[in-house]
Amino acid sequence: MYIAAAGGIVSAIVVYRCLKRPSPSPGCCRECGYNLTGNVSGVCPECGTPIKTK
Ligand SMILES: [Zn+2]
Repeated sequence: MYIAAAGGIVSAIVVYRCLKRPSPSPGCCRECGYNLTGNVSGVCPECGTPIKTK
């Protein structure tokens, strides 16, 4: 239970940090806010949005 709660909190913090940024971050999907750190496919695995790396 505690582990699940901690995981939920961490996920919420990650999403919040992505969404609260005024400009799209290269580390997060500009459409859904998914954390794309370490993603090398060039496409968001959550919504399929092409990732702008530059
Ligand atoms: Zn996305």
